[in-house]
Amino acid sequence: MAYPVRDSTSISIDDGTVTVRGWVQEIRNLGGISFILIRDRNGIIQITAPKKKINPDLFKQLTSLSRESVVSVSGEVKTSDQTKLGLEIIPLSLEIHSVAESPLPLGVVDKVNVEFDTRLNHRFMDLRKPEVKAIFELKSLLCKLISEKMAELDFMQVQTPKIVATGAEGGATLFPIEYFDKKAYLAQSPQLYKQMLMSTGMDRVYEIAPAFRAERSNTVRHVSEFISFDGELAWIRSQKDVMAVIEEVMQYTISGIASRGTKYLEVIGAEVTIPKAPYPILSYSECLDMLMGEGMEISEGEDFGTEGERLIGEIMSLRGNDMYWIVEYPKAEKPFYIMEKEGTAFSYSFDLDYRGQEISSGGQREHRYERLVTRMKAKGLNPESFGPYLESFRYGMPPHGGWGIGVERLLVNMLGLNNIREAILFPRDVHRLIP
Ligand code: ATP
Ligand code: MG
Repeated sequence: MAYPVRDSTSISIDDGTVTVRGWVQEIRNLGGISFILIRDRNGIIQITAPKKKINPDLFKQLTSLSRESVVSVSGEVKTSDQTKLGLEIIPLSLEIHSVAESPLPLGVVDKVNVEFDTRLNHRFMDLRKPEVKAIFELKSLLCKLISEKMAELDFMQVQTPKIVATGAEGGATLFPIEYFDKKAYLAQSPQLYKQMLMSTGMDRVYEIAPAFRAERSNTVRHVSEFISFDGELAWIRSQKDVMAVIEEVMQYTISGIASRGTKYLEVIGAEVTIPKAPYPILSYSECLDMLMGEGMEISEGEDFGTEGERLIGEIMSLRGNDMYWIVEYPKAEKPFYIMEKEGTAFSYSFDLDYRGQEISSGGQREHRYERLVTRMKAKGLNPESFGPYLESFRYGMPPHGGWGIGVERLLVNMLGLNNIREAILFPRDVHRLIP
């Protein structure tokens, strides 16, 4: 039997009565009548208990429930113009699954301002707030949209190891771990493995997986564990082929969030604007000029830094561009696996910035063994510690390129959130290992 209550997984119909299962969000006792709000994943429904019309024991039980207790309430559904949903339930029976203690460590509906740290300390409770949970519904949708588009573009989804023997992104941010009698690390990125896959004939791969960085800097955009959406593709003619794929995926996912995520965007109060495409391409030196023009002290070869990126973002917003590429970075700034632009100080690399924040780095990789080894040495790395990686370049490696995109950075900038931790269920940083 179809029942027009709501799109809920926790409501069931049995002979004209319904059962809702959820958390007791609020109880309002007005003497002769009581209202109990039950919250589940999909929303809130009101239980209306008129004292005279229902069983006295049931009334007593209902009105003495503690906030956030978990219950099932069965009853009759009635239309109501007093509730947001347009429906209410007149209770017939109650089952208490779990009684919540009082006081609560954190209010779910209280409008008082709570420190973010307090929210994170009691994250399970914080996640009960519809506006917090909605971020993760959208993150889930975002990953689904990415996978949809990548499948359409014929990319294989892969999984590479997160326990590794060598770092790919520099020693400073490696997390060492004990691995039996050997030293190992948590993977900073799937870089080496996705490149090795290019030598196998799996010529388009992607991965959505955790990446670990021992980031000591305490910023709103760095954490120790984030989700990286990585892609690598072979047979590219230049980094432009890689950029084209990213642009297509970004436009698809952002439009998808705007059109399929409306229910959650409303809860958060966020509006998603679809970036203007094609994304403009700025060169590193153009950006330097922009920054100098703004009076920033920065010299050739230097990283723009957070402030620089933010300023460039402001200028680009004024031009109507939320998303833009920055290319032609000095090769000294880029990792060993990036291809150099011969005879210049530049590399075939790009960053993708979204409203003043880097969300992705990528480029064409050096696929020629000798040059790769030369580049490694120039970066002060020992090729011997990259043995298994390098081997895959010695027996046939196609030209290739790829990227890494921080999923949380993408989401946070899309939704206008101000801290990357808002988009991580249980964030990890220098100061936080629990919960
Ligand atoms: P940044 O300069 O912002 O520290 P990065 O250049 O070190 O970033 P890459 O190694 O290029 O980062 O990683 C690719 C992407 O992964 C970044 O563009 C970003 O979206 C994401 N990312 C990198 N480090 C972190 C981190 N510590 N926390 C969250 N996301 C990160
Ligand atoms: Mg980068």
